[in-house]
Amino acid sequence: MTGDELREKYLMFFEQKGHKRIESSPLIPHGDPTLLLTSAGMVQFKPYFTGEAVPPSPRLASCQKCFRTTDIGSVGNFKHLTFFEMLGNFSIGDYFKKEAIAWAWEFVLDWLKIPKEKLWITIFLDDDESFGYWREIGVSAERIVRCGEKDNFWGPAGETGPCGPCSEIHYDFGEQFSCGPDCSPSCGCGRFLEIWNLVFTEYYQDAQKKRTPLPRKNIDTGMGLERTATVIQGKRSFYDTDLFVPIVQKVSQLTGQKYGENEKTDKAMRIVAEHGRAVTFLITDGVIPSNEGRGYVLRRILRRAALFGRTLGLDKPFLGEVAKEVISKMGHVYPELVKNREPVLKVIGTEETRFDETLSTGLNLLNQIAEQAKGRADKKISGEEIFKLYDTYGFPAELTAEMAADNGLLVDLEGFEAEMEQQRERARAAHKFVLGEKATAVDYPSLGLPATEFVGYKRTRCKAKVLSLVVDGKTQEAASEGQQVEVVLDSTPFYAEMGGQVTDTGEIAGKQGKIAVGDVVWANGEIIVHRGKVVDGAVFLGEKVSAEVNQSRRLDIARNHTATHLLHAALRQVLGSHVHQAGSLVTPDRFRFDFTCEAPVLKEELAQIQMIVNEGIRRNLPVTKKEMPYTQAVSEGAIALFGEKYGDVVRTVRVGQAKAQISFEVCGGTHIDRTGDIGFFQIVGEGSIGSGMRRIEAVTGKGVEKLIEERFSTLEKIAHELQVPTADVESKVASVLEELSAERKRAVTLERQLSKESADSLLSQVESVRGVPVLAVSASVSNMDALRHMGDVLREKIGSGVIVLAAVWDDKPNFLAMVTPDLVAKGLNAGDIVKKVAQATGGSGGGRPQLGQGGGKDKDKLEQALKLVAQLVGEKV
Ligand code: ATP
Ligand code: MG
Repeated sequence: MTGDELREKYLMFFEQKGHKRIESSPLIPHGDPTLLLTSAGMVQFKPYFTGEAVPPSPRLASCQKCFRTTDIGSVGNFKHLTFFEMLGNFSIGDYFKKEAIAWAWEFVLDWLKIPKEKLWITIFLDDDESFGYWREIGVSAERIVRCGEKDNFWGPAGETGPCGPCSEIHYDFGEQFSCGPDCSPSCGCGRFLEIWNLVFTEYYQDAQKKRTPLPRKNIDTGMGLERTATVIQGKRSFYDTDLFVPIVQKVSQLTGQKYGENEKTDKAMRIVAEHGRAVTFLITDGVIPSNEGRGYVLRRILRRAALFGRTLGLDKPFLGEVAKEVISKMGHVYPELVKNREPVLKVIGTEETRFDETLSTGLNLLNQIAEQAKGRADKKISGEEIFKLYDTYGFPAELTAEMAADNGLLVDLEGFEAEMEQQRERARAAHKFVLGEKATAVDYPSLGLPATEFVGYKRTRCKAKVLSLVVDGKTQEAASEGQQVEVVLDSTPFYAEMGGQVTDTGEIAGKQGKIAVGDVVWANGEIIVHRGKVVDGAVFLGEKVSAEVNQSRRLDIARNHTATHLLHAALRQVLGSHVHQAGSLVTPDRFRFDFTCEAPVLKEELAQIQMIVNEGIRRNLPVTKKEMPYTQAVSEGAIALFGEKYGDVVRTVRVGQAKAQISFEVCGGTHIDRTGDIGFFQIVGEGSIGSGMRRIEAVTGKGVEKLIEERFSTLEKIAHELQVPTADVESKVASVLEELSAERKRAVTLERQLSKESADSLLSQVESVRGVPVLAVSASVSNMDALRHMGDVLREKIGSGVIVLAAVWDDKPNFLAMVTPDLVAKGLNAGDIVKKVAQATGGSGGGRPQLGQGGGKDKDKLEQALKLVAQLVGEKV
């Protein structure tokens, strides 16, 4: 029976028992922040078990993609994979132990034909109920083993959740594999293999580890597909089943090593095959390599595979080939593999190449470190050394630990953690957030004004009373047309610059006049001061006015502000949650977002980030703003800016529904109500702004519209100039540039020829200064190259003499001076001569005795300057 047949039989069997077949959920658990990756079949059903959601049927069956980080170190053995498929049947408050046990037994004996003598059962210590049911269907008492909490009590997946006792079915490979007379199914030796676990979820465990009985009892079972295939195909390991043979063969083909000949290389090949498969599934489901969370798990196994590949003699990236094999062999079961083939191969390629660049040097360093450690009394690799390997060469600490253990060495993982903490500290120290508070002309607090009520979160317009009018630094009763004024109101919808968001602009209108507000500032953090100009009539102290913010500008700002939150979340998703906001500037036209990040952001990562943000926009998620105690906000996972001072009660901004939020931040800014209002998000720039700090600039909404319009119109103009359709611009530009460079070459050749010819005619202008032949003339050439060439020709013809050539290009005079060696011997110096000549046109020059050059400023003084030459020569000889 093939693995495919086993999967199908299982699901069919339980369909016959009234179960509804449910598709596997992705490896990234949906809406469960307590869990890194899907580790069991029940994960996607958790809300049904807890009663939060209603299942489509009380009986469900699935084949679930699982990943277990805890088993990474065991991979290569015969019991554990990181990625595996878990078959499972589930009862949501429907049947319980009796049926679960009876059906499991029926499936294993009748459908899989596993001989009864090969099977053992474990149950939880005092679970006599299960004992009774197993006995009832014919299992002998000596084949039922009672185990403790560690083996037979199923804790919750994640920190909280349903839990209960369990009962397992184990396969016995035979006494020849036994570790001794005390060997039992719970033993870790090679004799027994657990294939199926039946969990009887009766309790709910909360964060304090307290268990309360569930309103309805549930069944949650998990049968390992690969383990069961191993048993029914009569093999000893996964790697000999049809599920793995093609992948192992691929590795064998890539490395040129035969599988099954040498335990050391066999194990390395198993690790490469397993991790290659797991990596393919992880990336397919949206995990991207990073330094934290799931991304780190992926990075860790990908690099572990790369490293073991090295030991097998592979010195180039190869995992993509393994992935291709996985996709072709498993794509019919998991079509998402085929769908995401190209991006997956790309991510693998990029990550592997990146690691490959430092791998050899890193390995050398590791060997060196290991040698040194061997000589030490404690035989320990220090935290600093592990950190260096991690930080500079990308060696996951776990990998270093594993290699150390192979060499009989210890590692100081605590020391490593301390180094990591220090690095985080350094990053934190680098983000100081600046709260913009601009100076006002008046000491407002001393005027005894009350704190301004800010109503701008809900409204962009309000009625208010003028509490203070300041013109020229003095409080006034009125301000009239043309005057610059500072206004304080009792309440205002105007947002004053804070947290990177720029101020609102707008209008304050009284009965007899209007003020155009151009700036709004905080005075002492309590009073909001509006600055503007009276554009019409007059405004009076104490009068009722209407204050109105420029709404469309405010909306543009809000779009950009909400987009910074989406960007922040996407950055952390793609680059890892070590990325922190360091500052931002949110304006109506564009925004910039500064963040801490050691490594440059790759092009693909940037594209991914942009895609995630736009996906969030299209989902049109609600953006909810809520005030709550700071401690509550932080305990609910809100991101707060480091170094920012917050009051006891803070305003929070959440994007998405409370349990499935994609962003949750402490923020005082103004935001839109639904992400769809942003329209579109486009990154326009990314780069470093100092050590460990990077900046992204982006536009949204109307900004994008404008950008697209500009780009299109530029493109169209270019196309028009080039007289081609826009689609052909690229190829046309390439051919024009090619033509241009050919023409340039031709021009240079022509000019050289010309200069040779004109040299002859210039010779007639040689004059004699005290017996020294001097030629100081202007020539019509357009670059220094041609001028030099002309000089060379003239010098050869003249034999002995002083030559100064001048030519104008780019509207400026240029000079070249030459003195033949015989005259240099007499004290003449080309560098000195050209220096003085160039100076005469307002420029400068210099050089060696035989050759000098210079550039001037005023081309009108050129002839005058050339006349100097004869004089200078005369003075010297
Ligand atoms: P073990 O103690 O052998 O690690 P487990 O108690 O962790 O197993 P469960 O959590 O009960 O296993 O998972 C249910 C079933 O999934 C197991 O009976 C087994 O068939 C399969 N399984 C669990 N972990 C792995 C793994 N790392 N690789 C392959 N199959 C696994
Ligand atoms: Mg386990």
